[in-house]
Amino acid sequence: MGRPNVGKSTLFNRLTGSRRSIVGDEPGITRDRIYGEVAWNGRSARLVDTGGVIPDEEALIPAQIFVQARFALDEAAAVIMVVDGRTELAAPDLDLARLLQKTGKPLFLAVNKIDVETLDAAAENFRQLGLKSLTAISAEHGHNIGDLLDEVFAALPPQVEESV
Ligand code: GDP
Repeated sequence: MGRPNVGKSTLFNRLTGSRRSIVGDEPGITRDRIYGEVAWNGRSARLVDTGGVIPDEEALIPAQIFVQARFALDEAAAVIMVVDGRTELAAPDLDLARLLQKTGKPLFLAVNKIDVETLDAAAENFRQLGLKSLTAISAEHGHNIGDLLDEVFAALPPQVEESV
């Protein structure tokens, strides 16, 4: 999950490769959700891209999230929140982090667009969100993707159909 343009689709494509499968078909609710399969170290999980469910206008965020993304959240065993590491931390990121924390699900912050290792420090801004897990990644170039997957899979129950 995350605001528009932070790189959710790019991350989704990097994690699922060509294993993207179903596009939801409930008009207005699941049509923006795209499902894919992530394989990692002999395990696999279903990944849901909620791209487009969060509008860019700050005031609309809380209401819209829970109308449109509630289904994805309900079925998720864990949540990856993606932010754009090249921007300053903004109120909508805080709102989203707080709302996601309230679900009680394991929550992983992926600070994206950290394309150069020396830019890792930029991810520090996002420590203010107070999330336990923060990984600086580049969805486009693949930096630290394995680290993110290690953390997420460690939080998933081992023998059930997994959904992230
Ligand atoms: P979404 O709206 O959150 O799904 O974002 P997209 O995946 O469509 O990406 C938005 C823009 O950010 C696109 O132009 C991507 O090419 C770019 N982008 C995504 N990941 C990265 C990254 O790791 N580094 C850089 N520099 N750009 C990225």
